[in-house]
Amino acid sequence: MSGDIASNLARVHARIEAACLRAGRDPASVRLLPVTKTLPPDRVREAYAAGLDCFGENKVQEARGKAEALADLPVRWSVIGHLQTNKVKYLTRFASEFQALDSLRLAEALDRRLQAAGQSLDVFVQVNTSREESKFGLPPEEVMAFAKALPVFTALRVRGLMTLAIFSEDTIRIRQCFRDLRAIQQRLLQEGDAAQNWRGLSMGMSGDFEIAIEEGATVVRVGQAIFGPRPLPDSHYWPGAQ
Ligand SMILES: *Cc1c(COP(=O)(O)O)cnc(C)c1O
Repeated sequence: MSGDIASNLARVHARIEAACLRAGRDPASVRLLPVTKTLPPDRVREAYAAGLDCFGENKVQEARGKAEALADLPVRWSVIGHLQTNKVKYLTRFASEFQALDSLRLAEALDRRLQAAGQSLDVFVQVNTSREESKFGLPPEEVMAFAKALPVFTALRVRGLMTLAIFSEDTIRIRQCFRDLRAIQQRLLQEGDAAQNWRGLSMGMSGDFEIAIEEGATVVRVGQAIFGPRPLPDSHYWPGAQ
């Protein structure tokens, strides 16, 4: 069964390389984060057999269940979906990366928990570049102030910004979301705290990762192009999506 994963994966890698070539970028500058939400642990095992060892999940409890089921494998977990402050304790137990930081309250709760455990965590700040109500993330105009408030949370290792593009068929509008994220990153690199690392741009999914790479993505989060279509439409996961 892992044969389909391996061949899909080869196709995704080829598409990443082609997009990098078009954009004059080194393919090694783009990290593929396979997204395993809704997949059973056995399917993630197949993905591991196909050579993958870091997985993205959008729900912390689902992710934790899989992390426990696959505790025998040396895999890492990245939580890429909204986290409620009262679920911080679940995340810090198994995740090595969190890509949906979007409030100071959450930053504080994460930092407190991590400090107590003597741990640290890689984080990406999520920005709502499409300004859709259904999406989480900071409004673009709030990111600079947010970034300035982050250094006190010393257990959080800032790695960059994350966004989901607008749900639309219109590639110009999709591209604009990625451009907006990059523009915010450029400001942070110029005006932000020199100790913070804003070089990461996590943007692009199955439907739009090539556009994201052309616009500077350093992490693409890809589920369906590797694992096949999910049984439920995206509106199930993101109310308001088409
Ligand atoms: C599900 C998900 C993805 C991947 O979407 P695909 O369409 O399966 O590629 C990327 N980012 C986030 C935040 C997700 O929840």
